[in-house]
Amino acid sequence: MEAPVTHSHRLTRSTYDAVVVGGGHNGLVAATYLARAGLSVAVLERLDHTGGAAVSARAFPGSPVRLSRYSYLVSLMPEQLVADLGLDVRLESRTTASYTPYLPGTATGAGAGGEAGGLLVERPEGPATRASFAALTGSDDAYDAWVSFYAEVEELARAVAPTLLAPLPREDELAARVPEQIWRDVVLEPLGAAIDRRFRDDTVRGVVGTDALIGTFASLHDPSLVQNRCFLYHLIGNGTGEWRVPVGGMGAVTDALAAAATRAGAELVTGADVRRVVADGSRGAEVTWADADGTHTVAAGQVLSGVAPYVLERLLGGTPDEATKPEGSQLKINLLLDRLPRLRSGADPAVAFAGTLHLNETASHIERAYAEAAAGRVPTELPGEVYCHSLTDPSILGELAGSGAQTLTYFGLHTPASLFTAHPAATKALAVERALASLDQHLLEPIADCVARDGNGDPCIEAKIPQDVEADLAMPGGHIFHGDLDWPWAPQRAALDTPARAWGVDTGVESVLLCGSGARRGGAVSGLGGHNAAQAVLAAR
Ligand SMILES: Cc1cc2nc3c(=O)[nH]c(=O)nc-3n(C[C@H](O)[C@H](O)[C@H](O)COP(=O)(O)OP(=O)(O)OC[C@H]3O[C@@H](n4cnc5c(N)ncnc54)[C@H](O)[C@@H]3O)c2cc1C
Repeated sequence: MEAPVTHSHRLTRSTYDAVVVGGGHNGLVAATYLARAGLSVAVLERLDHTGGAAVSARAFPGSPVRLSRYSYLVSLMPEQLVADLGLDVRLESRTTASYTPYLPGTATGAGAGGEAGGLLVERPEGPATRASFAALTGSDDAYDAWVSFYAEVEELARAVAPTLLAPLPREDELAARVPEQIWRDVVLEPLGAAIDRRFRDDTVRGVVGTDALIGTFASLHDPSLVQNRCFLYHLIGNGTGEWRVPVGGMGAVTDALAAAATRAGAELVTGADVRRVVADGSRGAEVTWADADGTHTVAAGQVLSGVAPYVLERLLGGTPDEATKPEGSQLKINLLLDRLPRLRSGADPAVAFAGTLHLNETASHIERAYAEAAAGRVPTELPGEVYCHSLTDPSILGELAGSGAQTLTYFGLHTPASLFTAHPAATKALAVERALASLDQHLLEPIADCVARDGNGDPCIEAKIPQDVEADLAMPGGHIFHGDLDWPWAPQRAALDTPARAWGVDTGVESVLLCGSGARRGGAVSGLGGHNAAQAVLAAR
């Protein structure tokens, strides 16, 4: 067990070497590295707890279950970072990678005809995976194409992963280390082109493509390549791209980080809403925050911003252009079930729900849904995926472990914030209804029959649209990465002439650095933003 973390309501000094704005997981990582290097460090967090989007919560009154309320799987946090900080974090592999149920009449292989079926990808992949591809498509070609695509992607991942904790490499340095074809497919051309060329089956195309669209509103063919960047981040973690379940939920990761930060001597202040950062070039900054007692100011040699760049601009006294505000696009639903539902395909629910269960995520579904949402409508057949973390880690169920109860998380794509602006409550209800209907079409019993009741007798269902995420966490527009992801390397001609630029954490103001998701390479639960900002501070001393 970690030692309890000290969250204070006041600072002990009037000046710190470094003040971190925002106690998300990245802010905690930055604080720990700096405090360990001997700097005096304070973290100011507006909520009454640290962790930002990496937290666990008892979301349902009267229920002991502590579920990962926002983020839920970890891939991008380097093992080296976990070791460096001595974190007590356990990440558990899921036994199923993914399961994609399909309706009667949709398969073209042996699974064609009157039967419902499912495309199973085991972890590790074995004969059942190959057989499953053959049943869906009628030949071995699809699985052979899958194996060769992901082998190439792994070469790319193995080249990029070791660079993430170092100053930014340049694009051509990395390109030179990676086979030309996969570089072109993932980095140079819209990902949809490679997916169409390499895979013929609509379901397989969709399973590959969804990694490009988590929290990213784009077509697979978008010329901006924002979907390619999202895909890359989903496949490079620790050189394998495996997404694992944090034991104890995402809150356990944050608790370990907060404990490491306080052990190192950083002061964590919660309930401290930062209102203003006045930066004086290279000569430090003053940070003003408000709490229940009024407003306070502290001086900092260096400010590290764990909040989104769009939020920081306002704190620095600017007026951010509304047109540049990030926009989130996901629907997250947390459910507690009395039991897992049975599937029409006959698959064992403990296998099908153990990985990523894809719903309405064929390539055609995804593109249709994108077009509908871009035209301002909630997609009729909402694409999304569900996860049952408690199959991998029953500890989050508390005393319900062993009772048959399970958690279920739904992550929906292509529900941009703009869809909910006019009629938030009604549109949210419609989106939730469509998300649950996308699951029901594959079940022998409606999911509503399996949902547990909370202490008030209400169904244990909690839904978060982008507006909820913004209200809860101050992520602008509810964008889960604080803004669209950047490539994890420097453009060819970028100036890398200061530590801040070399580490991808520059804000244009010398005494203020980005240490959160908005830093280049910062997106997701990785600690990379925090690590890289801390290294830039130390390199400049
Ligand atoms: C629904 C959802 C699902 C996700 N799923 C995953 C997943 O499974 N895996 C994954 O890797 N990533 C996932 N992500 C993304 C990931 O959670 C984020 O990229 C990551 O948590 C960001 O961490 P951070 O520390 O950079 O910022 P944040 O978590 O945003 O933390 C910033 C902190 O700053 C505080 N703050 C804001 N304004 C102020 C202010 N004015 N003064 C003081 N404090 C302030 C906030 O309260 C917050 O605590 C998901 C995100 C969401 C929302």
